[in-house]
Amino acid sequence: MNKNELYEIEITDIGNDGEGIGHIDNMAVFIKDALIGDKLVTRIVKTKKNYAYGRVERILIPSPYRVEPQCEKARSCGGCTLQHMSYEKQLEYKWNKVKGCLERIGGIKNAGDLMEEAHGMENPFHYRNKMQFPVAYDKEGRACLGFYAGHTHSLISLSDCAIGHPVNSVIIEIVKNYIDKFGVSIYNEETSTGLVRHILTRVGFSTGELMVCVIANGTKLPYSEVLTDMLRDGISKWSSDNSDNGCFKKDTKIEFKSLMLNINREKTNKILGDTSKVLWGQSYITDYIGDVRFHISPQSFYQVNPLQTKRLYEKALEYANLSGMETVWDMYCGIGTISLFLSRKAKEVFGVEIVPQAIEDANRNADLNEITNAKFFVGKAEEIVPQIYSRNEAGSHADVVVVDPPRKGLDEKLLKTLAMMSPKRLVYVSCDPATLGRDLKYLTGEGFKLERVAVFDQFSHSTHVESVCLLSRKAFIDKQ
Ligand code: SAH
Repeated sequence: MNKNELYEIEITDIGNDGEGIGHIDNMAVFIKDALIGDKLVTRIVKTKKNYAYGRVERILIPSPYRVEPQCEKARSCGGCTLQHMSYEKQLEYKWNKVKGCLERIGGIKNAGDLMEEAHGMENPFHYRNKMQFPVAYDKEGRACLGFYAGHTHSLISLSDCAIGHPVNSVIIEIVKNYIDKFGVSIYNEETSTGLVRHILTRVGFSTGELMVCVIANGTKLPYSEVLTDMLRDGISKWSSDNSDNGCFKKDTKIEFKSLMLNINREKTNKILGDTSKVLWGQSYITDYIGDVRFHISPQSFYQVNPLQTKRLYEKALEYANLSGMETVWDMYCGIGTISLFLSRKAKEVFGVEIVPQAIEDANRNADLNEITNAKFFVGKAEEIVPQIYSRNEAGSHADVVVVDPPRKGLDEKLLKTLAMMSPKRLVYVSCDPATLGRDLKYLTGEGFKLERVAVFDQFSHSTHVESVCLLSRKAFIDKQ
């Protein structure tokens, strides 16, 4: 196989990042934007010892799963990687990914028998409550907002985003006009000069409350009062012109509540700086997951797909099977979303989280909802929980443990403590099926039994997959 040459290829598999995989001369070729079932002509762009990368040059026979992307920028934009795949096929791909990891890595036989049908979205578009648009100059020197092309920092200009809340289209338009009209400077990554870096938007899908946050390389935003007026007028007009407000309930009005300035003067890829100030309105918006209310500031972590999050938490609650008498742990609790969601059905809930600001939010949100049976610890789960367990402190016994770790999964020290704590039920919420498989292998070896698995699609058109597993203590099941 030679670089730059064209080859006919049939796509037979899908890779971890959603790329199509086919074979030429027994060598795997990874091709972005290709789908299982496509017959196509590929141009080889890179060759390695045992594999190669190719580009789609021409599709000869399209895959039966190929659909027209809703967004015309889908192919170039790095935000969505699977928009050209039918949604049913995306769900099947995610379900199979989890099954494969449970069987291959977790050593679970016939995992499919334990798995519920994938929980997909009714509408896999316009579901995100948070967007972060980088800002740049276009070729004519005018402001543009959008997303970076995959693995680069070149901006794909967008006038709307198919997975964001529809109100973003008017915000993008207003911010561009404001920057151009007043000659506000745009940040340049190479020289670290210029002001406006990103625009962050957050919408409460239950409340309709809207925040716009300008992330800037400076402490002041010129003509911010004019930007405020433009946003107030534009958003209120958008609200009255659009009968579908993009929220959960048709009669929720989108209300502009907050214009913030986040200060980020660092030469970094990190989007948000550490300090924010109010330019107009309040410093936060509120939203609900179920009947629990949350304060959300620019820096708060908050799940981005509120509808699927609620369904996922309901599944965690169903698996936890609480009667009101239980002591529950929520490990890797973030701002306490799962803890607070479960607290109404439990005797007491303990949460642990590494980020101190998240625990401040968790305590504030507990107060806001008058929840008094939740206690939060700041620190590493693998240090705090073993400590509490060895000292026999409050929380050393748990009836139910929920874990929701980042992609790297559970730490070995925590796994050992979980085996000793021996809760009746362990609910594992995972965003990476590979580390989930690895951890399940350990836990099933320590007397836990995998009972149920539910796959949730939180991020349609991407390859990310979330799942919830219920494990029970074998000894406990045998006694029943
Ligand atoms: N359960 C929360 C957040 C889950 S994301 C929710 O549903 O909203 C995973 C969380 O684990 C993040 O908030 C991250 O800050 C935290 N985290 C990462 N490493 C950790 C560790 N070693 N100990 C405790 N928390 C950790």
